[in-house]
This record gives sequence, C-alpha cells and structure tokens, in this order.
Amino acid sequence: MTLADRVRAIVGGANVVDEPDALWTYAYDATMGYRGQPAVVAFPASESQIQQLVRAAAAADAPCLARGGATSLAASAVPPPESLVIDTNRMQRIESFDANARRAIVQPGVVTHAFRDFAAARGLCYPPDPSSEAGSTLGGNVATNAGGASAFKYGVTRDFVTRLRAVTARGEVVEAARPAAGPVVDALIGSEGTLGIVTQIELRLVEPPPARALRAAAFESPTDALARAPRLLETGLVPAKLEFLDAQTIQAIERARPRGLPEDAGAVLLVELDGEPEAVRAEEQLLLDVLADAGAGLEIVDADTAERWWAARRGLSASLSRIRPAKIGEDICVPRRALADTYARIRGEAESRGVPVAIFGHAADGTLHPNMLYDPSDPTERQAAAAMLEVIAAVGLAAGGVLSGEHGLGRVKRGFTTQAMTPPTLDAMRALKQAFDPDQRLNPGAMWPPV
Ligand SMILES: Cc1cc2nc3c(=O)[nH]c(=O)nc-3n(C[C@H](O)[C@H](O)[C@H](O)COP(=O)(O)OP(=O)(O)OC[C@H]3O[C@@H](n4cnc5c(N)ncnc54)[C@H](O)[C@@H]3O)c2cc1C
Repeated sequence: MTLADRVRAIVGGANVVDEPDALWTYAYDATMGYRGQPAVVAFPASESQIQQLVRAAAAADAPCLARGGATSLAASAVPPPESLVIDTNRMQRIESFDANARRAIVQPGVVTHAFRDFAAARGLCYPPDPSSEAGSTLGGNVATNAGGASAFKYGVTRDFVTRLRAVTARGEVVEAARPAAGPVVDALIGSEGTLGIVTQIELRLVEPPPARALRAAAFESPTDALARAPRLLETGLVPAKLEFLDAQTIQAIERARPRGLPEDAGAVLLVELDGEPEAVRAEEQLLLDVLADAGAGLEIVDADTAERWWAARRGLSASLSRIRPAKIGEDICVPRRALADTYARIRGEAESRGVPVAIFGHAADGTLHPNMLYDPSDPTERQAAAAMLEVIAAVGLAAGGVLSGEHGLGRVKRGFTTQAMTPPTLDAMRALKQAFDPDQRLNPGAMWPPV
C-alpha cells in the first residue's frame, strides 16, 4: 500500500490530492523563492483522522507538515520533499463560545478574521490581529505565535491561549491547560508545527474597548518618526496601535490605490487609541501635545484623514508590487530606542547595494518589516534582495534585537540561529525538539538550529 492509498483509506478519496499537477498548489506558502513538492495532501475532518495520518506517515517514513492558510512569510509551511501535508481547511468549527466565561473552543482551521468577527458579533473581542487575518488560521496563528498591530497593548496569540490539544509525532494526543501544563502549552505555541499538530484551541476573549480614536502624523524623515515613537511611550501613553510607514511604502500605496498619503513625507506614524471615552480623549490630547512638540517638518492630520491612511495600512502588502513584482518580507524586532538607528543602517545597506526596500512596522513593540523588492526574472536583483536577509539579521542582532518579531524562523531564518544564540541555548533548543519528535517527523528543516 502506498502512502496515498493509506491516506485515502483514512480521509476518503475526495479529501486527498496526489495528482502531480494539483500538488504544485500545495508546494508554496506566502514566502517567495521557496517551494517543495509534497507526496500527498490530506484534508482530515477530525483529530482522530490526524492521529491516523501521522501514524501512516510514520509507517511510510514520510515527513508531515501541518498546513493552515499557508500565509507564512518564513517558508515554514513549504512542504519537505515527499511529505504528507495535513491541511486543516475542513476543521473550521467553533466548537463552543461562552460569552459569560469569555472563552471559546475552536478547531485549528478557523480563519482568524472569521473568528474575530464571530466574537465581535457576540459583544466580545479577540485582539490578535495579524495583517494576514483574512487568510490565516487560528492553528497557524498558534503555531507561529502570531502578533499584529495591537500586540503592544493587548498581547500576541500566546497571551490568549488557555488550553491546547495536539497530535504528537507518535500519533498520540496531548491535552495541556494553563497553569498546570503551561510549559507544554508554551512549547507548542510558536513551534511552527515541529512539535505537534494542534487540533483544538481554547481561547480567552476580552471586552471590546468602548471608544477609539485614530490619529496620524507625517514626518520629514523616517528616523525622526522612529525616534519619536519611544518618546511617545515614555509619556505613559499606551496606544492600541502605533504603526510606522516609510516614504517607499507610502509611495507604493499611493501608486496602487491613492488614499491621500503625503508622497513627499519621509514617513508617517499612525496611532490608534482605545479605552473609556474620557481616557481616550485625555490620551489624544497628550498625543497631540507630544507630537506638536516634535518640531519642524511635522504635520498632524485630522481624524478623517487618519481613518483614510489607516485603510491604506490594511491593504499595504499587495501595493508593494507596484515597485517590483516580488518581495522578501523581513521581520526583525529591536529595542525601541534602537529603531531609528536600525532603520538607517538597513536603508544605507540597501541603497549601497541598489536594492529597493520599503520598510514599515509596529513601532511600539520594536518590529520592523523591511521588504526587499525585486524582479524574479532578473537573477542579479533576486540575489541582491536575498543577500539583504543576512545583513538585516546582523544589524538587528547587533542592536540587541531578535531574529523575528512575528513571522517566526521557518526555513528562511533557521540558519541564523547559530549567530543569534549561544551554544548551550542551541543545545537546549535541539534537546526540546528531540524530546517531542525524535524521528524528525514533523516539519523537518524548519525553525530548529541545524545539527
Ligand atoms: C500579507 C501578510 C501579512 C502578515 N502579517 C502578519 C502579522 O501582522 N503578524 C504575524 O504574526 N504574522 C503575519 N504574517 C505571517 C503569517 O500570516 C502568520 O505566521 C500566520 O500565523 C500563519 O497562519 P497560517 O494559518 O497561514 O499558517 P501556515 O502558513 O499554513 O503555517 C505556518 C506554520 O504553522 C504550522 N501550522 C499550521 N497549522 C498548524 C496546526 N494546526 N498545528 C501545528 N502547526 C500548524 C505550519 O506547519 C507552519 O509551520 C503575514 C503574512 C502575510 C502574507
């Protein structure tokens, strides 16, 4: 019996893809330049089917890859060769929603945005808001510990998971709840499908803020804007969101779909405040006072204009193709005080190498997303863009930062772990992977330091 035959017997022929041409659809995630053709893709409907699938892969000695929305930008959902892909697309049930207890239990394939809408319609809020929420799944968010623009004030996915069920590499089920089994919950979150396949998630919800205000300011220079961000927070202001867009990003947005962003500005900061109406009003005043103090070259815009600029932020990623058809979307996180200098170094390196780069990020938590833009049909451009990965890792680490703010390490940054971590830390990382998955069955080649 082939692996595909075993898989068909588990999930039924209609829920299997093994035609070579159709398999190409599953060879990618959202990371450009990475692909890997799997042997077979299965669409299970239950945890028990996932258990059987993992055991079938073990019997055939094939690697396994869990796949959610395939929006990874770290190539963590690119299949290892000849693997069994376990796609959670059919597992989109919200199993329970208890508004009084503010808890929900969901299957892993529930799309993030759909869940956030579902919660909002019932008067509650699920804060993690990755920009990919229209396509990403809650299982994928757990596996990458996804964050978003509101992470600074509200936290990332990890802060909302109270209990998890997952299928291990041996096909067994672990069920871990905080606080007693918190270490197991924490090991699985952010493990990029390398320690277990998440089958059920219990999530905490919060009351939505009763009021919010959007504001924005344009700066002459990107480093001024980034230097201003930590100073804003030092006043005690806790914005729900504090987003940074540089000139190249603004120009791409305006070329794709004009929203009235200032094309001659060096950068803009977008600020969202939320909370009780009175507190929001007071924070807004504080914000305006601090920004007004920022000196020349600054334009603070009214609330309506800010709303339009925020809309532009939401659809930003696709706009970058107006500069070059392809991009490498990077993600580093540095101490806030180092943001301006990190930006200047990355921009300087990119300019000296002739690589177009658009940089935006979540300024409150120190995350910058340099996007290297290139034409994939031009090998020189492609190589120059890819070479920036190493530069950015080195600049970020030298600034006291970490390799990833939110996308994870995947296949793209796994190689940099040896630069970022001490040998005992690398050993501890390898020991953890070995304890969960001694046969390297689950998503081999992603995340963990090379042996
Ligand atoms: C335009 C764009 C914007 C983005 N913005 C953000 C952002 O703001 N914040 C952010 O954090 N990320 C962002 N990302 C990255 C990506 O969307 C997140 O990493 C997201 O959490 C991935 O979810 P997914 O369902 O698409 O997972 P996939 O891409 O399918 O998989 C990602 C990883 O999770 C694993 N996985 C998936 N499902 C499971 C499961 N059930 N059990 C175990 N492992 C599983 C996969 O094996 C893989 O290792 C963005 C991506 C794009 C393309």
